[in-house]
Amino acid sequence: MVDGINNTKSSINNTKDNIADTVWNSVKDAEMVLVGIGEEFGIEAGSLENSREYAVFMEMTGGQSRFQWMLPFVEEIFRKDNKDHRVTAAYDVLEKLLQEKNYFIISVRTDDFIYDTDLKKDRIVTPCGGYRFWQCPEGCGQRIFERDGRLADAIRNCLNGNGKIEKIEMPSCPVCGRQLIHNNIKVTNYVEEGYLEAWNAYKKWLQGTVNHKLCVLELGVGMQYPGVIRWPFEKMVFFNQKSVLFRIHSKLYQLTEEIRERGYKIKEKPIDFLVNRFV
Ligand SMILES: [Zn+2]
Repeated sequence: MVDGINNTKSSINNTKDNIADTVWNSVKDAEMVLVGIGEEFGIEAGSLENSREYAVFMEMTGGQSRFQWMLPFVEEIFRKDNKDHRVTAAYDVLEKLLQEKNYFIISVRTDDFIYDTDLKKDRIVTPCGGYRFWQCPEGCGQRIFERDGRLADAIRNCLNGNGKIEKIEMPSCPVCGRQLIHNNIKVTNYVEEGYLEAWNAYKKWLQGTVNHKLCVLELGVGMQYPGVIRWPFEKMVFFNQKSVLFRIHSKLYQLTEEIRERGYKIKEKPIDFLVNRFV
């Protein structure tokens, strides 16, 4: 097995087709495909504070504190509107790879870009949350709330010069009245109910991989939450003798001794890998 592919300029042409073919064939040959998407699977749009959206918002509100609750929405709009086309292209490649396969994807990204794709929603779990649900900052009743999409639209319209920002009402917790916030791991009392159903489906799917030909793609999974993807994946590959692992990361691509025989380490940013070698 290949032990290390270094993406240096001079070696790209030699390894390009080989490693892409190997990934492609392994996925197509597998009975089940497990995908882990990590923190490196993104291209950051820069800081909110330096954005046009932020400047417009601050000018419109005069920086008054009563409007501060809208900032996470402004940030979401900024990130969505400045989404790099290579991110979309990388997800497109992933869709093609997984077409007609029995797959499950676990992602620690919180940008929700994966939900804009045609990947099967019931085969995705995002345990770090994102923008899809709201929760109370105090975690009242461990409840999550379906988010009212009109709110983000209204804020977006205001940023584009349509509508009065004073008229937009803050969503509030029905129990304590506090402002509802986005349900993701960055908040203090993160309510995990937002992903539990998908998590249970994931666990069940994983149990079904035993004794099956399993292809594992680890795309940019670093050490931010190693207990969520990296370590469990290593354990799975260790125990499943019919498995193969592709670990793709610009820095943390190393494989442990135990799984070296079943693993490929690829030193490359996952988005570059998918876009440059498959598009
Ligand atoms: Zn509350």
